[in-house]
Amino acid sequence: MTTSPASKSAPKVGIVSLGCPKALVDSERILTRLRAEGYEISPSYDGADVVLVNTCGFLDSAKQESLDAIGEAIKENGRVIVTGCLGVEPDVIRKTHPGVLAVTGPHQYEQVVSAVHDALPPKHDPFTDLVPPEGLRLTPRHYAYLKISEGCNNRCTFCIIPSIRGDLVSRPITSVLREAEKLAVAGVKELLVISQDTSAYGVDTKYKEEMWYDRSVRTRFLDLCTELANLDVWVRLHYVYPYPHVDEVIPLMAEGKILPYLDIPFQHASPTVLKAMRRPAAQEKQLDRIRKWREECPHLALRSTFITGFPGETEADFQFMLDWLQEAQLDRVGCFKYEAVDGAPANALPGAVPEEVKQERWERFMETQKAISAERLQKKVGWTLGVLIDEVDEDGAIGRSYAEAPEIDGNVFLNGETSLKPGDLVDVTIEHADEYDLWGSVERDV
Ligand code: SF4
Repeated sequence: MTTSPASKSAPKVGIVSLGCPKALVDSERILTRLRAEGYEISPSYDGADVVLVNTCGFLDSAKQESLDAIGEAIKENGRVIVTGCLGVEPDVIRKTHPGVLAVTGPHQYEQVVSAVHDALPPKHDPFTDLVPPEGLRLTPRHYAYLKISEGCNNRCTFCIIPSIRGDLVSRPITSVLREAEKLAVAGVKELLVISQDTSAYGVDTKYKEEMWYDRSVRTRFLDLCTELANLDVWVRLHYVYPYPHVDEVIPLMAEGKILPYLDIPFQHASPTVLKAMRRPAAQEKQLDRIRKWREECPHLALRSTFITGFPGETEADFQFMLDWLQEAQLDRVGCFKYEAVDGAPANALPGAVPEEVKQERWERFMETQKAISAERLQKKVGWTLGVLIDEVDEDGAIGRSYAEAPEIDGNVFLNGETSLKPGDLVDVTIEHADEYDLWGSVERDV
């Protein structure tokens, strides 16, 4: 503790943000609100008067990580408020860490801000500290997550998010576009559209129409993409399901208006397993759809995640998934071993897969995809790609092309390019590839 709440300097709040990009956006909103009230944000434990821990409670391993992070914050600072997904289980938190000051759940912005007020009253004049119009962000200055909705109408049997976050609530399209516009004006070069189910955007509002400048826009996936395409920044779509209406945005990708990149969490390929998972769009002809998209937009990059060892998954189901993977030729793929989540309906399904079988299948899956990924990246040698720089150090610059999302996909390394800056967009000739990353050099006019 360095500053008492009654001291003259602004009260300082530290934050530890765990979990998915959606939780990161929640943290940004909380910080924006606190900053508007005159709080300062401390980058270290010892500079903070109170520490907020935004937790994840999706898997047991994430819960443990959250409990460990709370423990560390208590040890390092002592005054800790917990929020986020694990906040729906206050007993679990208080049992392990009885000293926490308050516990609030996900999206309880009012409650978490009020818990901060109780622990650390705001300075008298909230207008002395101005917040930049785009709000405060935890991502680097050149990219930002754009959250378009909360909750989910699907009921995948391995997931408890709908019970934590409720049914789908889409943000009004004008509010999303206004935020996107402010971010673009503030210098953001890449917007990452996120939600639990991006392709379902607006279903809950019956695709409500609103006026945006001189035109009417619907709260709908296609309208959102069309309008974001006017902002002259990279637009990347995450958490899209392969419904037929997704076809409508492929022309925008083919014309270079939004990035030809789709993050589709397929999770499995076997119809039996998909049915047991109750996955959205499980009945759609996914391989046909992918083929059609690639005909229209040949450079489309597809990334996905899969689960192996779901209850009832047989060797034949698993082999079906490997064969599907060979056919689909996805660019970037993550794979998780199935883990039971407290409260998820899948726990009651018969046919639990032994841990060693899960492990063995996971290894085979990763080997298969590694070869696919290496081959696909190798084909890019000789291409010229626009690369957005994320980091620069004494060895050179690290960036990403349209085919790599931050944090989850690979990188493009530019050895020796030490004069570039994060946020620069440069044309790069790709010279080398391995299973995950690319290397190249910047094209310069001579
Ligand atoms: S789509 Fe399925 S996995 Fe994703 S949040 Fe909704 S219920 Fe959970």
